[in-house]
Amino acid sequence: MGQDRTVSTAKDTDDSSPGSVDREVPTEALRDEYESLADRIRQFRAAYYNDDEPLVSDAEFDQLYRRLEEVEALHPELISNDSPTQEVGGEVSAAFAAVQHLARMYSLEDVFSLEELQVWIRRVEASVEKMGGHPELKWLTELKIDGLAVNLLYRNGKLIRAATRGDGTTGEDITHNVLTLKDIPRQLRGKDLPAEVEIRGEVFIASKDFLQLNEAMVEAGKAPFANPRNAAAGSLRQKDPAVTAQRPLSMYVHGIGAREGLAAESQSGTYALLKTWGLPTSPYFKVLDRYEDVLEFIAHYGEHRHDLMHEIDGIVVKVDNYATQRALGYTSRVPRWSVAYKYAPEEVHTKLLDIAVNVGRTGRVTPYGVMEPVKVSGSTVEMATLHNQDVVKAKGIMIGDVVVLRKAGDVIPEIVGPVMALRAAQDPPVRAFVMPTHCPSCGTELAPAKEGDVDIRCPNARSCPSQLRERVFHLAGRGAFDIEALGWEAAIALTQPAAPATPPLTNEANLFALTPEDLADVRIEREKKVRGEVQGRELVPYFYSKPMARKPSVPTANTVKLFTELEKAKSQPLWRVLVALSIRHVGPTASRALATGFRSMDAIRSASEEQLADVDGVGPIIAKALVEWFEVDWHRDIVEQWAGAGVRMADEADSSVPRTLEGLTVVVTGSLPNFSRDEAKEAIITRGGKASGSVSKNTSYVVAGDNAGTKLDKAEQLGLRVLDEAGFVKLLAEGAV
Ligand code: NAD
Repeated sequence: MGQDRTVSTAKDTDDSSPGSVDREVPTEALRDEYESLADRIRQFRAAYYNDDEPLVSDAEFDQLYRRLEEVEALHPELISNDSPTQEVGGEVSAAFAAVQHLARMYSLEDVFSLEELQVWIRRVEASVEKMGGHPELKWLTELKIDGLAVNLLYRNGKLIRAATRGDGTTGEDITHNVLTLKDIPRQLRGKDLPAEVEIRGEVFIASKDFLQLNEAMVEAGKAPFANPRNAAAGSLRQKDPAVTAQRPLSMYVHGIGAREGLAAESQSGTYALLKTWGLPTSPYFKVLDRYEDVLEFIAHYGEHRHDLMHEIDGIVVKVDNYATQRALGYTSRVPRWSVAYKYAPEEVHTKLLDIAVNVGRTGRVTPYGVMEPVKVSGSTVEMATLHNQDVVKAKGIMIGDVVVLRKAGDVIPEIVGPVMALRAAQDPPVRAFVMPTHCPSCGTELAPAKEGDVDIRCPNARSCPSQLRERVFHLAGRGAFDIEALGWEAAIALTQPAAPATPPLTNEANLFALTPEDLADVRIEREKKVRGEVQGRELVPYFYSKPMARKPSVPTANTVKLFTELEKAKSQPLWRVLVALSIRHVGPTASRALATGFRSMDAIRSASEEQLADVDGVGPIIAKALVEWFEVDWHRDIVEQWAGAGVRMADEADSSVPRTLEGLTVVVTGSLPNFSRDEAKEAIITRGGKASGSVSKNTSYVVAGDNAGTKLDKAEQLGLRVLDEAGFVKLLAEGAV
């Protein structure tokens, strides 16, 4: 209380915050809200710091904490000494001996936007100026490591004890555990070591070690950790140091506490000194003069936060100079000379409603989690793949659990693990996921492709509706027949038994024989909405308009387009037809190589495995897959029926095109104004050249368009010849000169 109290700066009120703030007398409702907020924060802190098992995500916690600060800023009379805003988070568990820190350990003030950071910086500059100091400060800017704070006490260079932060005054004695960390020296190096110094730092688990650790935990029948921070805290706060010794714990130091006989004038100067003593300092800090440079640092690590060895949840900015730090001082909870800028949350909690399975194009059965929709990293997520049953097991999740969902930037969402502390309270109770024994789409018994495979498959490749749907969607894709009107929903409508019970396609052989009449009765299942509200599901016509009184049902515009595009697709080049067949391992690159080498489907079909493997860009695996594919009668039937319907099965050898690029390898990167990527490749291949996707010393030319990225850098490093579009056109016409 009193002069040390922080009053939060202007912070946005979140729309979802309960209640509104009355600026005069706190209403009864506001008092109740305040009490309930404080209680919940205390409960969440206890779970987080003492049990290493958070009950809510950090984002949710931060939101509650902000609301509490907001209410207190407007009604300071509500603040009591035991308000969560007046205390540093943790407590001391009875499992450890209590240790008094020589100097207090603090938390950090958080800001969640660049505007708030600027307000904070201006406030510090103004305070310094008011105290007669120099307002142009140097900012030590570093990563906020998502780990656990520890305090190491060294006397004359010898490690005497180690403690957790606890409530900031009293921590937990974890000396024996800390001694097992190889990063932490028992004896500091060098002469002139201080008589006494407290070293503060963060213990963490490197991101790459985290999954492995969790797998081992589940294997041993124990609950997995929800994230690397909890894993680090849980590993360090063990009763038995032998357990800690087995955990991959690391540490970076980021400050000092009490000191005696230590000559340093700045935070950065201290880091340099600590490094010479053999303490692990982070390589990532910078001392910056200007606010703009701090912003750049924040933006840089915002983009690269997943390229680091450990998790970070923000950036810490500190006044570098010790005299200024001392002048600014502390509140009861945080230093006034430091702030933590927090990045947008990438982890949230949500309920895992079910684990369903999807049957893919090759019959692989993949479990995926269905969750209560939740916003994370800027998008709403309700499904996440779980890859296979071993992954479900390794993560230790059960249907009905509250789970930690993570979406790091553009990366696909991932279910990290369950919130174990909430499992027992789930209603209905959680249940284990059981991998189905039969295909959910066609009822065929599932089996691994070969013994020992983790993945299981539906062997009914020919007529399993799910596999067919995926194949039809694939053959219409941009890299195959390029049929825009045949998207995901149309693929469902063509292949799934809804109404009529037998769908128009039972395999892809008769795709080109479809007539508009075949589609007249096709309906698909959609949500039924009555006045905007979902009321069950209903079957609706898909390819034809809804029948109305006296108006006949007619094909929709998309259906008309579908038939036009199907007609056009018949004259696509051979390589696209090959891609459309969904032959294992045969993607666009192999298809182009095959088309260039053999020029017709007949020639490919009658070639031996050796002849196929001999083609540059094909090789033995693809050759084997091709031969095996053509051995299946219904596969040959697809080719025959497509050919019968007029699909072009051979490329004309265009003698009008001179083979100017024979023996040359050309890489195209970036976008060219007059060639699509495919057209550029086609132009190279038809002239006898090799169109490669990667730059190496064997590359003859690199054609670089707009936004050419790392391939251009590499070409320059290797001293390769780089052409623009005009140079490319000349190369195509004249060959190497
Ligand atoms: P904090 O983690 O936001 O910041 C203070 C801590 O940051 C310091 O004690 C220090 O250990 C650490 N730190 C990391 N890198 C640092 C660096 N380079 N320099 C200085 N310190 C550095 O504060 P806190 O009080 O420990 O915890 C509050 C935060 O913890 C909340 O904002 C929330 O995200 C999380 N929390 C979550 C729950 C939950 O239930 N999910 C509960 C309590 C706290």
